[in-house]
Amino acid sequence: MADDDAPSDSSLLVIVVDTNPNQRYITEDPKLLTGCLDAMIAFANSHLMQKSSNLLAVIGCHFHKSEFLYPSPGKPLDVRQIDGQYELFTLVEKTIKMRLVNLIKSQPQDDKPGESLLAGALAMGLCFISRMRREAAPGIRMSSRILIVTGSSDTAAQYINYMNVFFTAQKQQVLIDVCSLDKHLSLLQQGCDITGGLYLKVPSLEGLLQYLLWVFLPDASERGQLVLPGRGRVDYRAACFCHRELLTIGYVCSVCLSVFCKFSPICTTCHTVFKTGGPLPIKPKKKKMKV
Ligand SMILES: [Zn+2]
Ligand SMILES: [Zn+2]
Repeated sequence: MADDDAPSDSSLLVIVVDTNPNQRYITEDPKLLTGCLDAMIAFANSHLMQKSSNLLAVIGCHFHKSEFLYPSPGKPLDVRQIDGQYELFTLVEKTIKMRLVNLIKSQPQDDKPGESLLAGALAMGLCFISRMRREAAPGIRMSSRILIVTGSSDTAAQYINYMNVFFTAQKQQVLIDVCSLDKHLSLLQQGCDITGGLYLKVPSLEGLLQYLLWVFLPDASERGQLVLPGRGRVDYRAACFCHRELLTIGYVCSVCLSVFCKFSPICTTCHTVFKTGGPLPIKPKKKKMKV
């Protein structure tokens, strides 16, 4: 074992699990959610098993709110040892399942499920990480990462929130890993690229646990020594601030860097007025074309 892998090091893993009922794999077969959840819990326990100082948090992300599934606020559940299973693993599994049931029960019945609030759940994860770092005993080096497990498609509606979270994570040296269960997620892939995390679209849900253990279990320091899926090409298109649509070419405010799909003489974000000098030329001089 290398010297830098001292026993005082710990690794904090925050898993954001998308529990939105309108994910395609759940609407096609609701039983699949249980399977994916079991794989996620087995993966979470594997992380705890690697080192006794490792820490775990699980956040359930729904369409009406996001909530911590583990650790539960307040007093932890009272668990007894089952068949020689380590109590902590039983506690993790029982707490996650119980709190997930509560989260699903609390969803508004008359509302149509909307988009999963992933950006908000990520922000909760970052807050948790910064609190754990603050409370850690002196001398302990804590590496932190967030893993998103989702079958939702990404829309540009949360574009600004995503970018704020990604750049905060980058500054805090938190890796963002994304495990997509269904579609290719270009915005979240940008987050992986910005923070140095890994992005993987799982080819089949049956092998989910295998993919989680292979790709996402190793810590950032161990990943360099392993053969893991490559980055691929990252789609770095930005979404316009007016319609939240992904653009290849747009107008950028020279003051606040807001992106717009159409020219407007006043920036709607910072209210800067641009002098156009007579009738508006076809190519505005004050604006730069962004590729
Ligand atoms: Zn627009
Ligand atoms: Zn502006």
